[in-house]
Amino acid sequence: EARWPLLGLWLDNLDHGEILRQLADWAQQAGQRRIAFVNPHCANLATHHARYRSILNRADLLLPDGSGVLLAGRLLGTPMKANSNGTDLFPVLCRHWQQQGARLYLLGGQEGVADAVAARLLLEYPGIHVAGCRDGYFKDVDTPHVVTEIRKAAPDVLLVAMGAPLQDLWLAEHADALGVPLVIGVGGLFDFYSG
Ligand code: UDP
Repeated sequence: EARWPLLGLWLDNLDHGEILRQLADWAQQAGQRRIAFVNPHCANLATHHARYRSILNRADLLLPDGSGVLLAGRLLGTPMKANSNGTDLFPVLCRHWQQQGARLYLLGGQEGVADAVAARLLLEYPGIHVAGCRDGYFKDVDTPHVVTEIRKAAPDVLLVAMGAPLQDLWLAEHADALGVPLVIGVGGLFDFYSG
């Protein structure tokens, strides 16, 4: 499998079909997997933030988000196979989860945003289940409660839209306690998808 170096990050160079095959393989296995995305803002943050960089590099899939990263790939002579941004990849993932009848939990965004995303998903992808939603502006003292709530909801997939690097640090810290098979940091996706 081709991993492509960009500013100390090791990106997976996969097309959408290959990403779906990876998800299908994981579904046959026990354990938790984490997907992270890198846009130019994340890549820049990661050069200054060693812990964030290491969390990204330990993701089970680290995917290029947006044309900036694709352009860097072309300029540096290693074109990426696919754009994995919200517009291109998210509908592909949603169709996959629809077919699987997957249960999703949506965490992040301002109050009401995750609920709006959930409503749209339920309309556009009947078959997807929403196990729960919650905004991304809870206090630190409420974190154990949020983690317990997600754990009890027992989703197949947890989408966390709290921005970089917060969402990735949060997911790395609470991964074990969450007990969710697939966790994904999705940045500003909820704002985009609820609007
Ligand atoms: N956000 C959140 N909690 C926070 C800070 C941010 O839920 O404490 C949300 C914010 O509402 C927005 C997203 O995280 O929906 C960040 O989007 P942005 O596009 O800034 O993130 P990036 O794609 O750069 O990671």
